[in-house]
Amino acid sequence: MLATPDTVNLSDRLGLIDSLLVQYGLPLTKATLNFAWYATSPTGQSLRRELEGYAAEGHDITEEWVAQALSVYLALVGVETNGISGEIAARAETVTKTLEGVLARQEADVSEFAGELRQGREGLNGADPADAVSRLGTSVTTALGRIAETEAELADARHQITKMKGELENARQEARQDHLTRLANRRAFKAKFEETIRAGQNSCLAILDLDRFKAVNDRHGHLVGDRVLKTVANHLTKTLPHAFVSRYGGEEFALLFNNAHLADARAALENARATLYARRLRLKDTDTYLDPLNFSAGVVQLEQNESYERAMSRTDELLYKAKESGRGRTVTMQDAERIRGKFAA
Ligand code: GH3
Ligand code: MG
Ligand code: MG
Repeated sequence: MLATPDTVNLSDRLGLIDSLLVQYGLPLTKATLNFAWYATSPTGQSLRRELEGYAAEGHDITEEWVAQALSVYLALVGVETNGISGEIAARAETVTKTLEGVLARQEADVSEFAGELRQGREGLNGADPADAVSRLGTSVTTALGRIAETEAELADARHQITKMKGELENARQEARQDHLTRLANRRAFKAKFEETIRAGQNSCLAILDLDRFKAVNDRHGHLVGDRVLKTVANHLTKTLPHAFVSRYGGEEFALLFNNAHLADARAALENARATLYARRLRLKDTDTYLDPLNFSAGVVQLEQNESYERAMSRTDELLYKAKESGRGRTVTMQDAERIRGKFAA
C-alpha cells in the first residue's frame, strides 16, 4: 500500500515520488516523474488506486502503462493533455532544481569526508602500533572505495537530470507549437499578444481565413489539404517576416505586427495574399494544378491595454465583413465603413 500524502511539502513529496518509483521498479523519466507527481498528490487517490489495483492483478508496471493511465486520469479531471502542460513542466522543473540542490550538497559532503579520511590516513603515518595502522589503513581504503562509487552514482544522476531537463524543454516547446505547420499555436499566440500589450507599442492584429478551403479537401482529399496548409504557413512566414504568425485553428491564422501602423500591416497582408494567389501549386503525383489560393483577413490597430477578447472580436468582425463582401481581401475598420456605405447607397 502506498503512503497517502497529507502534505504538499516538496521534500516529503520527493520522498514519496522516489518510493513509488522504487516500489514499482520504474526508471526516472519524464513520463514516470509526471505520473508519480500526480499519484503522490493529495488529490490523486484515484490514480493511486488504479496503480495499486493494476499491480495487484499481477501486471508489471511499465513506463507505457503509467503514461496511458496518467493521460486517462488527466482527461477525467479535466487537465489539458496536449503535450505536457506548462504547469507540469514548471513543477517538474522545481523538482529537478531541488534534486540538483540535494546532489550538489551531497557532492560537497562526500568530498569533505574524503578530505578528512585522507588526512586521517596521513596522520597515522608513523603512529606506533603497527596493526592499528594497518587496520585503519584498510578501513580508510574501503571507505574511499565506497565514496568513489557514490561519486559515480551522483555523476550518473546528474547526467539523468540534464537529460530530463532537455526533454522538458522539448515538451514545453511542443506545447506551444502547432503540430502540422510548426507555427506557434493559439496558446502561444495569446501569450505573445499579452506580451505585446504589456510592451505598449503601436501594434496590429490580423486574423486571416483561407477562402473556400473545404473545396480543396473535397476535390483532392484531406492529406492534400494538410500539405496546402503547410505551404500556406511557410508562405506567410516568408512573406511576412516582421509579423508573428500563428495557426489559430483549422484554416485560420492569427498574426501580430509589432510596432507597425495599420496601413503598413494592411499592405503587407495584401502583398502576402497577392503572392499566394499568384502561386501555381501543382500536385506532383497526379500532375494537376490546384485552383489559386486566396484568403480573407481582418486587421486592426491595437488600443492601449486592450483585452485579448476585445481585440480578437473586433478583428473577427472585420474578417466576417471581408468574407461577406466577396472574399479575397483585407478589411480594416475604414474599409468596413466604406463597404457599409456602398451597401447603403
Ligand atoms: P470560407 O471561404 O467561407 O472560409 O469557406 P471554407 O470552405 O474555407 O470554410 P469552412 O469553414 O466551411 O471550411 C473550412 C474547412 O477547413 C473545413 C475543414 O475540413 C478544413 N480544415 C480545417 N482544418 C483542417 C486541417 O487541419 N486539415 C485539412 N486538410 N483541412 C482542414
Ligand atoms: Mg474557417
Ligand atoms: Mg475558410
